[in-house]
Amino acid sequence: MNEANEMAKNGGVVGASLVLDGKVIVSACNDPVDPTGHAEMIVLRKGAELLGSWDALSKAVVYTTRFPCWMCAGSMWHSGIKLVIYRDANPAFKADRSYFIHRNMSINKYEYHELS
Ligand SMILES: [Zn+2]
Repeated sequence: MNEANEMAKNGGVVGASLVLDGKVIVSACNDPVDPTGHAEMIVLRKGAELLGSWDALSKAVVYTTRFPCWMCAGSMWHSGIKLVIYRDANPAFKADRSYFIHRNMSINKYEYHELS
């Protein structure tokens, strides 16, 4: 989630990271020019490219700073993503939580715990 946060801070409104086996494969922020260039879409595209196939995405986790929209939710489902971790709610533009549940995907809120 730290890298997704950095992406949102440095470049755009939303940041996302694709993580496989505990390793960040790619991180991105929203593309302000491309209407489909949401951070989640970009990490799916680049992740599939880097891993050599979109099949490899089925074992990856998407971290995103905002609850995914319908387009990203559908793309994550088509990619075989099973787990999505989001940081903030997205009251204006979010997919319904039931979309994930009915497709055997987990959508969990990121819980930040400060180290003491
Ligand atoms: Zn989206």
